[in-house]
Amino acid sequence: MTVRTPVYLDHHATTPVDPAVVEVVRDALAGHFGNPHSAHAFGWAAKALVDRAREQVAALLGCAPAEIVFTSGATEANNLALKGHAALHDRPGRIVTTNLEHASVERPLAELAAAGWEIATVACRPDGRVRVEDVAEAITPATTLVSVVAAQNELGTLQPWSEIGALCRERGVVFHTDAAQAVGKVPLDVMADGVGLLSLSAHKFYGPKGVGALFVRARGPHVRLRALASGGGQERDLRSGTLNVPGIAGLGEACRLALARREVDAERLRGLGRDLFDAVAGSVDDVRLNGAAAPRLPGSLNLAFPGLAAIRLIRELPVLALSTGSACSGADGEPSRALAAIGLDAVEQASSLRICLGRHTTRDEADFAAERIVVAAGKSRGEGGAG
Ligand SMILES: *Cc1c(COP(=O)(O)O)cnc(C)c1O
Repeated sequence: MTVRTPVYLDHHATTPVDPAVVEVVRDALAGHFGNPHSAHAFGWAAKALVDRAREQVAALLGCAPAEIVFTSGATEANNLALKGHAALHDRPGRIVTTNLEHASVERPLAELAAAGWEIATVACRPDGRVRVEDVAEAITPATTLVSVVAAQNELGTLQPWSEIGALCRERGVVFHTDAAQAVGKVPLDVMADGVGLLSLSAHKFYGPKGVGALFVRARGPHVRLRALASGGGQERDLRSGTLNVPGIAGLGEACRLALARREVDAERLRGLGRDLFDAVAGSVDDVRLNGAAAPRLPGSLNLAFPGLAAIRLIRELPVLALSTGSACSGADGEPSRALAAIGLDAVEQASSLRICLGRHTTRDEADFAAERIVVAAGKSRGEGGAG
């Protein structure tokens, strides 16, 4: 087995930029420096790149190009969706969310709570999924918005966004979903799924970092927002600032690739993920999958190794690029919110390892990872467990 190490198994945190995307970004950077708002040939050439990317993003989501607002990523898109919604209201209302949200949803909502908004947090079930009936129960006449992550970034579990979208449409509230992990990996159709606002990030699906988008529904019904940054009035006055043309062109290409490859990639990654789990669970006693086996992101596994410390396993495995809990909050040693949400105690959380395979992960790499994890787990157990 010839495998180049370290093997990257942390595709929840970020993904490598696809070579086709690199080429598009390089061409835009080198060949089209114009400001897309300038009324001359340089501007028009840059605008053509932005227009094409807008169409590519819209094609992936199933919306109109005019419904796409380019941002610096999903963090900004989430902030714009939530604070931009709240800013429309003279009096604070109620927002329904879940205990599975990324910090870029959780923290803006905490700020809104401090400003008087009532934030109702629906708890997921032990399988790492929220139930549509629990969301329904939390919606009151004062509720104006529901925000639910589409695919959870630590557990990999998919939330029932289509049912939640239908519920929100019926109750006349705006449905926002943080789809940073879902877009490009699983089918999602904003029109059919009743989504009002959707956040995405290019670097989670083989695009560049620092670029993303917010889908803002324009019809049936039109979703209104107030801008957070004012200035030149770009992006229909929702997000002022000169556009990141190379990044946006790269995001468009990432969307085009995702549309072309999503099904094939998903099928292959599901197979690799299943085999990796079987290989590890077949050799290491008591290994459990955190969160429901399905529906989940293809190739995404969060594994509990009872009696073992995940951090120790990772130290044993410099040949694998792995993460405990969430890469976004894990670095400062904070407990994992998602693992707590599914009922794991501190020790169980500390024994959990996040593995996410990606488009460029080979069969050899997945087999190598399984083999090394089994060896490292055996060694740690031999040395007396979690110690
Ligand atoms: C990565 C991630 C974000 C943040 O995206 P950035 O583009 O890095 O700001 C938000 N939500 C989820 C679920 C994510 O996985």
